[in-house]
Amino acid sequence: MTAPTPLPLNTPRRFYRGGERILAFRGLETPADFDGHRPEDWLASTTRLFAEGGDGVTVLPDGTSLPEALAADPDHWLGPDHVAAHGVEPGLLTKLLDAGERLPVHSHPDRAFAAAHLDCTHGKTEAWIVLDAEPGAAVWLGFREELGADELATLVEAQDDRLLDALNRIEVRPGDTVLVPGGQPHAIGEGVFVLELQEPTDLSVMLEHRRFGLEEAHAFLGLTVARALESVDRGPLTEDALAGLRRRWTDVSGKGHALPEEASEFFRAEVLRATPGSPATGEAGFAVSVVVAGSGMLTTNAPGTASPRPTEVGRGDVLLVPYGAGTVVLEGDVTVVRCLPPV
Ligand SMILES: [Zn+2]
Repeated sequence: MTAPTPLPLNTPRRFYRGGERILAFRGLETPADFDGHRPEDWLASTTRLFAEGGDGVTVLPDGTSLPEALAADPDHWLGPDHVAAHGVEPGLLTKLLDAGERLPVHSHPDRAFAAAHLDCTHGKTEAWIVLDAEPGAAVWLGFREELGADELATLVEAQDDRLLDALNRIEVRPGDTVLVPGGQPHAIGEGVFVLELQEPTDLSVMLEHRRFGLEEAHAFLGLTVARALESVDRGPLTEDALAGLRRRWTDVSGKGHALPEEASEFFRAEVLRATPGSPATGEAGFAVSVVVAGSGMLTTNAPGTASPRPTEVGRGDVLLVPYGAGTVVLEGDVTVVRCLPPV
């Protein structure tokens, strides 16, 4: 199986609203019985939800779960170098996320905290690639001023608007990208639709939880509140530091990266942008490939096969391309974001 595999919709129920932008992007009708709580589409996932039923793992179109497929032929899917460095797991989780309401202010542990207190080798650094946003829509990231541990505990205890107000508010538009380091508190605002890359865990500290009806054990990862809050970066996240976390994926021509260099120890978002007469080429690799604009042809060139395999692609297509499919050539007037494991 050297062809790209179309990834089926994988939208576990979440506590917050959203999901219609995912269906529209994927070219699907909104079902009559749509429950409005399908805001995340987990792409090529080997990760389960921490709570809320524990779903999340991707099942491929042939009925095989992705972890089973990887275990059966790791070198084909991931490539020998990746397997040697990271084992038989992709090492990243990719999602489409449609914020139908503002998400609660939350943060994710970094690797050091996850290793020390959660028996987990991954934290959850994440990144947002903004595909669509209502005019004036915003995200929030990092405390503007440094908070003392007591001040943070007081704000979390109060569960009022002061928590959101203490964060940097960033208006976003399609084309923006933002890296969110582990520990940094954040929220995505209503009307923002992103392609999200993350370390492959579902570890969140829900600083805001009461208005979303989350239980404390779920909100604080089963830790004491005081311990959980030790994972939070109390700032400040200055304007300069914030600028260093931001890019524009639409600035890439040909081939380039959508995220700052420091993201690459967690994941990579490679942009391939073809224009008529100027194809773009990507190296062989396990890639969650999301067509974010335009239409064209994606051709894989597996070594040892007689002929290249072309696939027609257009905005909204989501393909899992295995390492064994070989190099990828993109032609037409089309942009693909390849979500790749860490180096
Ligand atoms: Zn998050």
